[in-house]
Amino acid sequence: MSVKIYPINTGFIRLDKGQYITSGAGYGQEVDVPTNSFLVTDGNEKILVDTGMTETPRADWHHPGSYQPEGSRIDQKLAELRVAPGEIDTIIFTHLHWDHCANMKLFKNATFWVHRRELDFALDPHVLYYKSYESENLDVEPPFKGVTFKTVDGEYQYNDFVTLFPTPGHCPGHQSAAIETEGGVYVIAGDAVFADPNLEPDEHRGLSFTPMGRYVNVFEMFESMEKIIDKADVVLTGHGQGVYDQKVYP
Ligand SMILES: [Zn+2]
Repeated sequence: MSVKIYPINTGFIRLDKGQYITSGAGYGQEVDVPTNSFLVTDGNEKILVDTGMTETPRADWHHPGSYQPEGSRIDQKLAELRVAPGEIDTIIFTHLHWDHCANMKLFKNATFWVHRRELDFALDPHVLYYKSYESENLDVEPPFKGVTFKTVDGEYQYNDFVTLFPTPGHCPGHQSAAIETEGGVYVIAGDAVFADPNLEPDEHRGLSFTPMGRYVNVFEMFESMEKIIDKADVVLTGHGQGVYDQKVYP
C-alpha cells in the first residue's frame, strides 16, 4: 500500500480570530476551530501525529465555549478508521500544548517523539504558559507526566516517508512532519500554520501568506511558516477546517 494520511478531528476550540489566527485582523471575532490530528500509514507502520484535545470540561477551562463532541476522543476517532490504540507504533508530537497531546497514555505500545526544546519547556513552562501545558503549578496533571519520550534536536528523517523538521515560533520547540506520498509532499504543520486563513495572502502587508497571531517568537514564527510553505506541495494545518475537504490524502 502507498502512504496515506487521514485527518482526525477531536473537537473544537473557541478563540479570538485576531488574537490567534490572523495577526493584524479579525480582533473581537469569536470563531470555533477544529483540532486536527493525523494518522499516517504505509499499510504496515501506523503513525499518529498529535493525539488531539481533551474532554469538554477541561477544554472549556482552557477556552470557554470549546468542546469535544460525543465520540470524538482520539481512540474513538481511530476506531472509525478500524485502528485500536494498541496498534499505533509511533506518535509524533508537533508540540505539547494541551490540545495536541491529550490522552497519550491510551497508547501502550507507542513510542513518543517530540523536539527536545519543547519537552524542556513543557516540563518547566514560563508562568504565561502554565495553562497551555497544564502545568502542575495550577493543580492539574499534564498529559505527559511520567511519560518517556524520544527527543529530536533538529531535522530528523524518521523513516523513508516521514521527516521531522523544527518549526519554532508558535512555541519554543515546535516541529512539523513532511510526509512523502505518491501525490507529493504533505506537511503536517501543527500550529506552525494555524488555520486556513494563514495560507491566504496578507494583502495589507503584501505577503503571500498571513502570519498568525499566537507565538512566543514572531521572527521564528514567520521563518517557520515560510519554510513549511516552501517545502510542502500541500500544507495540513493544526486548526483549519480545510483538512477535512478529503477523508484521506493523497
Ligand atoms: Zn499550540
